[in-house]
Amino acid sequence: MSALSWSQASALTPLASTYACPARWKYSHIDRLPEPPQAWLLKGSYWDALVTAYLRGEAPDPEAVWLDVSAEWPELAATFPSAAEMALRCATPAAQIAERFGGRIALSQQRLEGTVPGLAEGTILVGYPDWVTTDGQICDLKVSASKRWDREGAPQEAWLHGVGLQLAIYALLLDQAGNLPGWPASGLVISVYDGPTKAPQVCDFPVSITEDLAQEACAAVLAAAAIRQEGRYVARPGGHCGWCAFVDHCREDLAWGYKR
Ligand code: SF4
Repeated sequence: MSALSWSQASALTPLASTYACPARWKYSHIDRLPEPPQAWLLKGSYWDALVTAYLRGEAPDPEAVWLDVSAEWPELAATFPSAAEMALRCATPAAQIAERFGGRIALSQQRLEGTVPGLAEGTILVGYPDWVTTDGQICDLKVSASKRWDREGAPQEAWLHGVGLQLAIYALLLDQAGNLPGWPASGLVISVYDGPTKAPQVCDFPVSITEDLAQEACAAVLAAAAIRQEGRYVARPGGHCGWCAFVDHCREDLAWGYKR
């Protein structure tokens, strides 16, 4: 039985993410070329761990959570402020996010699995929603080093649409498990802007997860499954080459503008 996750789908097909590049996925997951860990991975993992601990009512020590998470990437962690400074930056906003949902969490960081119509037999789709409230709201925490909303508080539409597709997959999987109150499902994207200098800022965006959105997400999953099955790992250069660890492996004519 092979598993396909939404993060795989969004790495493989532009239907799921504007940053998708099948060649990058191949370099990382098939060729297993070493990929230096990126700052956003550590920062996002810290926020996830901290908010999840508050949501579970565990009264976490934010410094200890940082030390725990960052132990996995010691070299990268050395480029960040100290554990005490990280805790000072992130603890209050993380606790405030969690407070909003106090006592209303039905699922947190739990694996869901199911399928989508048309997916080859023997392949399952898996998903890990950040959390789902007792009234069925599907929530996702997105941490970014760039701000996802403008001065008026309006979100970047392409970005929010991509996250909406991800939430639609979770809604489908919850539906298959008999845990979705109905369509359209309710989604909430909590966006944390944690740039290098200023204090983190938080904004959230409700998403109506319609059946049309779910169908679009299914199409993206099927497209990703076909790329994987046929081994069509074609490079797709774009702005994302600028932060791709494999830029030096790409042919000159593909990622020419991004060679470092
Ligand atoms: S450099 Fe660009 S085209 Fe090449 S693998 Fe990376 S993202 Fe894809």
